[in-house]
Amino acid sequence: MSERIVLFGGTFDPVHLGHITVAQVSADKIGASKVVLIPARRSPHKKQKPVAADNHRIAMLKLAIAGKNLFQISLVELNRAEPSYTVDTIDHLARQFGSDCRFYWLIGIDMLEDLYRWHKINELFYKCTICLMYRGGYDRPDFNSLSQKLDDSNIEKLKTNMIETPLINISSTQIRQGISKNQDICQHLHPDVLDYIKRHRLYAATD
Ligand code: ATP
Repeated sequence: MSERIVLFGGTFDPVHLGHITVAQVSADKIGASKVVLIPARRSPHKKQKPVAADNHRIAMLKLAIAGKNLFQISLVELNRAEPSYTVDTIDHLARQFGSDCRFYWLIGIDMLEDLYRWHKINELFYKCTICLMYRGGYDRPDFNSLSQKLDDSNIEKLKTNMIETPLINISSTQIRQGISKNQDICQHLHPDVLDYIKRHRLYAATD
């Protein structure tokens, strides 16, 4: 059987326990041997740039996955010129891991509405399995609203490949805002990530 590899792209600004938990649960359900976290240089789908510098986002990811052999980090998107497209990332990782691997690209339900805008989306559906994960604070997906935007066959794939991840109602935005207001957000972060944020005074200014 070909190796199954979970790919999880994000801004990770900062990485929080929601990210790590849903990625771990998804990998278990998929039967994947690896989870590759792929920090984005700049999401083509979000207008805001990351607040923390690349080196800080990478350092926090390393702390969040320390000792977890399932996880690794790929800098492919950070090392590429803008804009960075998922389909190019898949091609790169297929060269790195071998084209007989099966890739599972995770996205939270909040990304669904804009998925049709992703560069070469049909090619992406062909090259990997896009897995929708539940996300706390968001409704169940409305697949009917996608009918004018995505091919029916791809909508069917999305329905089939939904992953019932635990509902964790936290986002990096809430964490950045919480830190800037001195709120207690420690239950949402790995302790070493929280310590790193404090030491480097990240997110202290307004978001
Ligand atoms: P921001 O608030 O800065 O937009 P975020 O918390 O959404 O950040 P990202 O790094 O942008 O985090 O997200 C990367 C991926 O992780 C996206 O597919 C997103 O949907 C998913 N994700 C983030 N947080 C959760 C969560 N709590 N539950 C499920 N999926 C999540």
